[in-house]
Amino acid sequence: MSSTENQPSSNFIRHLITKDISNNKNDGKVITRFPPEPNGYLHIGHAKSICLNFGMAAEYNGTCNLRFDDTNPEKESIEFMQSIERDVQWLGFEWANKNHASDYFEQLYNYAVLLIKGGNAYVDSLNAEQIREYRGSLTEPGKESPDRSRTIEDNLALFANMRAGEYADGQFVLRAKIDMASPNISLRDPTLYRIRHIHHQRTGDNWCLYPMYDFTHCLSDAIEGITHSLCTLEFEAHRPLYDWVLDTLQTPSHPQQIEFARLQLEYTIVSKRKLAQLVNENHVTGWDDPRMPTIAGMRRAGYTATSIRDFCERIGITKKDSWIEMAVLENCIREDLNNNAPRAMAVLDPIRIVLENYPDNQVETLEVSNHPQKPELGTRSIPFSKVVLIERDDFAEIPPPKFKRLITGGEVRLRSSYVIKCNEVIKGDAGNIIELRCSYDPDTLGKKPEGRKVKGVIHWVSEQQSLPAELRLYDRLFNVANPASEENFIDAINPNSLETLKNCRVEASLAEVNSGDQFQFERVGYFCVDSVDSSAEKLVFNRTVTLRDTWAK
Ligand code: ATP
Ligand code: MG
Repeated sequence: MSSTENQPSSNFIRHLITKDISNNKNDGKVITRFPPEPNGYLHIGHAKSICLNFGMAAEYNGTCNLRFDDTNPEKESIEFMQSIERDVQWLGFEWANKNHASDYFEQLYNYAVLLIKGGNAYVDSLNAEQIREYRGSLTEPGKESPDRSRTIEDNLALFANMRAGEYADGQFVLRAKIDMASPNISLRDPTLYRIRHIHHQRTGDNWCLYPMYDFTHCLSDAIEGITHSLCTLEFEAHRPLYDWVLDTLQTPSHPQQIEFARLQLEYTIVSKRKLAQLVNENHVTGWDDPRMPTIAGMRRAGYTATSIRDFCERIGITKKDSWIEMAVLENCIREDLNNNAPRAMAVLDPIRIVLENYPDNQVETLEVSNHPQKPELGTRSIPFSKVVLIERDDFAEIPPPKFKRLITGGEVRLRSSYVIKCNEVIKGDAGNIIELRCSYDPDTLGKKPEGRKVKGVIHWVSEQQSLPAELRLYDRLFNVANPASEENFIDAINPNSLETLKNCRVEASLAEVNSGDQFQFERVGYFCVDSVDSSAEKLVFNRTVTLRDTWAK
């Protein structure tokens, strides 16, 4: 793992695990799990949990399982499972076992029967609304359901019939019998099972009875022999319930639930439900839209696995909620690409330069290094010829103060090439600039010009040999730092989050690129070859990140 500034030297979970190991708790073993619900693609928040769970296991010679928490079939799918597996592997992690909560449905059912037999669970006929009413509030105790005193025999028979499919959805639930007056509302007889006549992506129509999270999660952890069950802070209040289920059932192993703060990242959304809405309402092109904070979207945008892991390391693990600035994430990928991406030249909005004193049909091949600090990244050939293209805004007829680029009568260096001078501006009828008549100084290749200073350096491509390309400039998807807190987060979408430039020209060396290849387009930004739309006939590049933090004030 790369070392960076701001890197927390340790965190409270490390301390805790180290202590457990020194006390030989769990025979000194560390087994963790990453437990996504397959109801969407993974996002950057999940990356934090993945890096933590797999990272702790690796650090202590332990193992980490991937476990699909697949207990809500109406929202889950095989596509989501496959995307999750791909993303975890792409991030660089290997699970010891791939499990599913649905693998344990039979065992969970048997555990529920044991709870009933012990007088610790009952079948309730209150409907969802009544259950809510009876639950009480933070200031008022709850009220017991009339069904709470049902006999064990009746509960067993009803529960068996629930499984057998004899009742409609919502007609009965199974509830834990704990304490309706508990100050902790999650202990006021929480629901353990509900009836859903619905096809499950893995168990088919075997079940019409599905276990709730609070019952499933702790038991799945115990079944797998998880030692440290790391979850986000919103489950802190559920920990007594987690422990109650395991204590009451005297499971052979009793994992320890430990909570940490979720990642909250400015200018984006980390909620699968809301991300699904963006996809379903076509505000983005899909889960892998490069503007999405999903792992798939970030990969397509050009984020590397290293940069995401680096980000997770930098933000650290705490028990206190806090907001992370987008700049922290962007700096991680910017640093990675600055170090590793080869340089290339692309002109976004070309204007023609005709070098009047350059021989008509001559083409020179300039050998240019791919990275200014990394000779090991090699060199490439760039053709130079009589007509080159430069960026329209690298020329000014009436230059603003401190303009160091090309002006009429002025000189500028073409990057890695010659110094040129603008002699004449050719305009169309509408006053638009058609081309610039220039001359080049043959004595300036790899040399300073004689007797004068030329300050500006601009990028360029040779017109004839350059290739057409589409560049997609992505920006933040939202205009506000915390879109989730808006009345309607959809209204906070940044209408300028994508600018598509269709008339760009890129240097000839990019003819042979592969999907995902990354470049720093000099003076323009970091880009990658789009994995979906780019082809040999039509190159498409996504902007991963700008060269500098353009949002910083
Ligand atoms: P979402 O609301 O986006 O669906 P979730 O917590 O319901 O999030 P799960 O699929 O249940 O999503 O999460 C799998 C694991 O990832 C859980 O352990 C969860 O705590 C963790 N996780 C989810 N979001 C974040 C986040 N923003 N920061 C850190 N961990 C997260
Ligand atoms: Mg969830």
